[in-house]
Amino acid sequence: MAEAVDTLILHAHLFTMPRDGVGYIPDGAVAVRGDRIVDEGSTNTLLLRYDAATIIDASEHALLPGLIDAHMHTPWAVVRGVAQDISHWMQRGLAPYARHLAREAALAGSRLNVLEALSTGTTTMGDYAHPIEGWAEIFAEFGVRAVLTPTINALPPGKMAGWGIGELYQLDEAVADRAIRDALDFARDWHGAEAGRISIMLGPQAADMLSRDQLLHVKRLAAAEGLMIHMHVAQGEREIDQMVKRYGKRTPAFLEQIGYLDDQLLAVHLTEATEEEAAEIAFSGARMVLCSGSIGLIDGIVPPAYAFRSNGGLVALGSDQAAGNNANNMFGEMKLTALFNKIRYRDPTIMPAWTVLRMATIEGARAIGLGDQIGSIEVGKQADLILVDLRAPNLTPILNSPIRNIVPNLVYAATGKKSTLSWWLGVCCCRTGVC
Ligand SMILES: [Zn+2]
Repeated sequence: MAEAVDTLILHAHLFTMPRDGVGYIPDGAVAVRGDRIVDEGSTNTLLLRYDAATIIDASEHALLPGLIDAHMHTPWAVVRGVAQDISHWMQRGLAPYARHLAREAALAGSRLNVLEALSTGTTTMGDYAHPIEGWAEIFAEFGVRAVLTPTINALPPGKMAGWGIGELYQLDEAVADRAIRDALDFARDWHGAEAGRISIMLGPQAADMLSRDQLLHVKRLAAAEGLMIHMHVAQGEREIDQMVKRYGKRTPAFLEQIGYLDDQLLAVHLTEATEEEAAEIAFSGARMVLCSGSIGLIDGIVPPAYAFRSNGGLVALGSDQAAGNNANNMFGEMKLTALFNKIRYRDPTIMPAWTVLRMATIEGARAIGLGDQIGSIEVGKQADLILVDLRAPNLTPILNSPIRNIVPNLVYAATGKKSTLSWWLGVCCCRTGVC
């Protein structure tokens, strides 16, 4: 007798993303009960096994794990496009606006950015922001999966815009102490909330933005609380300059010296890291977030993610913030990642489409410590799924012979526009309120 499930998605071009490949199943199906994947395989097999309350015909659609954006700063969506084509971006582009970002504007930015990401296929959002009241609630209400990192730094509010380029920051320990307390309170309130959909990391913003003692304090707290550390590392020559002036060391060597390089660290950007430094960080077990669009626009640099992966490191993708990158769309990030790395190495075989798709799904999930829950379509995992309509003109034709073209088209041609996407988180996309 057939087993009862809530939802059967049938006749899809199914990409399960298991182990090392994309796990393509033509005429594939997925069975969902509650918020979990019960089964996956061929449509014929699952039709025999299950009775579903809801059947979704996904003919001519690609069915994928929801995309993972590991690094965002959602409040900045309210100043999208105001800080472009400028050098010294953080101090001269962003900081003048940062000191005027009031709570209501920040929350409006977060709502806007979550909507943008969700409507372009991102179901897990790694957001990094000051933990103002109402921030986490936005992710809870939208029904998305979120990894939230409350910002910790020792920078007196509003001061950065006034410092000269190259001037050593005046760190205020009291500011960081308060931020650490707030972050811990926030973590205790939200880590594991919403049936596990929300998890928390600790976010010492960067090695140049806290004292050495406070960095070590955060490291001890993260270990005690079982939380990962989400940190910008070597994010531009500004940071390296501060580190050399303060400690006589570049950031990677400094982090190595103070015991920060291990699998608890999610290192964002590595903009100014050399390939050798990237390899050392990868060897340590630390994970990387590559923000291709943001770093391309802000710094004109392609970070050494290829070297990081080549040395065994896990790399997630991130869209960063709309004041630098303008868009928080993982389809865009996938294409930019492939393109920029091919161009950097003058080699079209670097970062092929299927690899980049894995970085936006299963590899990203592993990098942020959620590899056992999301990122692939496997029995027992969360049903964070998206459907991409392959009948769109830019995704036509679908070819399986003599070569399969769906994955290259997902990475190089798809735009993630709402009209071509549906999404499910757990039971039903309707929980998100935007379908
Ligand atoms: Zn960032």
